[in-house]
Amino acid sequence: MLYLELFIPAQILDLMERLESRGFEAWTVGGCVRDQLLGLPPHDWDLCTSATPEEIAQVFEGFPLIRAGEKHGTIAVITHKQPVEITTFRTEGGYGDHRRPDWVHFETNLREDLARRDFTINAMAYSPLRGLADPFGGQADLADRILRAVGQPEKRFREDGLRILRGVRFTARFQLTPEAETCAAMSTLAPTLAALARERVYAELCGFLPAARVEDFGTFAPVILAAIPALTPTLGFQQHNPHHIFDVYTHTAHVVAAVPPTLSLRWAALLHDVAKPACFTQDDDGVGHFRGHAHLGAKMAREILQQLRAPRALEDRVATLIAYHGVTRDLGRLPGDKPLRRLLRRLGEEVLWELLALDRADDSGKGTPSDPAAFDRFEASLRQLLAEQPCLTTRDLAISGRDLLQMGLPQGPILGRILQTLLEEVGDGLLPNTPEALLHRAEGFLDLL
Ligand code: ATP
Ligand code: MG
Repeated sequence: MLYLELFIPAQILDLMERLESRGFEAWTVGGCVRDQLLGLPPHDWDLCTSATPEEIAQVFEGFPLIRAGEKHGTIAVITHKQPVEITTFRTEGGYGDHRRPDWVHFETNLREDLARRDFTINAMAYSPLRGLADPFGGQADLADRILRAVGQPEKRFREDGLRILRGVRFTARFQLTPEAETCAAMSTLAPTLAALARERVYAELCGFLPAARVEDFGTFAPVILAAIPALTPTLGFQQHNPHHIFDVYTHTAHVVAAVPPTLSLRWAALLHDVAKPACFTQDDDGVGHFRGHAHLGAKMAREILQQLRAPRALEDRVATLIAYHGVTRDLGRLPGDKPLRRLLRRLGEEVLWELLALDRADDSGKGTPSDPAAFDRFEASLRQLLAEQPCLTTRDLAISGRDLLQMGLPQGPILGRILQTLLEEVGDGLLPNTPEALLHRAEGFLDLL
């Protein structure tokens, strides 16, 4: 074996040396070894050891410890204000509830511990004293960019269905190709995802989406559809439209991969056409139409994200993006900027930039030559409008509710409504945003009361 030296931060080495000096083996293990072999900075450092939890606690007497995972063999030691998980070599059995192992056994042997891990690339351990432990060929698989289950794939995915989604995430994140048997087992056991806690499915999908490639949607179609069953009708759904060469599912894959990798945009791309099959009609010429699919899609996206227990703010943003998708092209084709001003007031600048990114990706994902002219015009108009420092909320108006009260207008919701009307008129360019003009206009309301 080539001599291999991986960098380990001093505070982690210190923990390892404390264990070793008491006669226990100590290894860095799992994701941090994988990331280092890839030349990526690990985001956390996990250790495994031959010491039992009781012995770990003794070695780190005087350190703050988190002992919540002790039953499963894990003690977190706080060092330099960071918790570092130290886990006793262990094997585990049966995932009756698809969440937690029914039992864990502590082992004295590192190999046993590595054998319970999900994929070969995650089943390596490293110690500066002992070198790289890689009994399942993880280093070679990493070099060849292969995702391979440790042991019999079907058995491993049956034990824990979450591994299927982890596999999809790692494949995308590290640009892997799943080995044939591993891939087949992921598809075969995809239906077991239905038994997983929705929060976990959501978390894995959030890990997958920013890294997702078009081909991952092809390779893992059964898994993706099992995770989000509402997308099932999109697979193979032909659009009967000269501008679209792909079915809805494949088009979706292209749009996901083309939008910037933020969660809101990736989720919006994933779900933007979810309602197309339900909204499909064909005209006399055989051309397909999907009237109302943006509106219904926004509604379906809310339901899907609620079921997955996604944060409300993400749900709101994704639903807005889907409800309005396509609008930047429509506005880019219209003369004048009044509708754009209204949209900017209603949705705000950030959403409009995201919408533009979604619409551009949507267009580029049709598989036919795209025409960015309308989007370019929309973008130019938006930039120009923003440069004018437009009045977007009633707080941007040159007068406030207090000024209206001083004029003699009564306290109450009427004040808000008057400010809103002034905002619309300023926004539409009918009224300059100056105190004089606004107060003069407001006097008109006094007469109406
Ligand atoms: P990430 O970079 O996302 O943290 P990771 O591989 O470190 O990736 P963790 O969830 O932190 O993932 O898990 C650490 C290690 O524990 C993994 O590398 C793997 O060896 C093992 N592991 C985690 N989850 C499972 C699982 N469901 N089944 C088997 N082994 C697992
Ligand atoms: Mg990790």
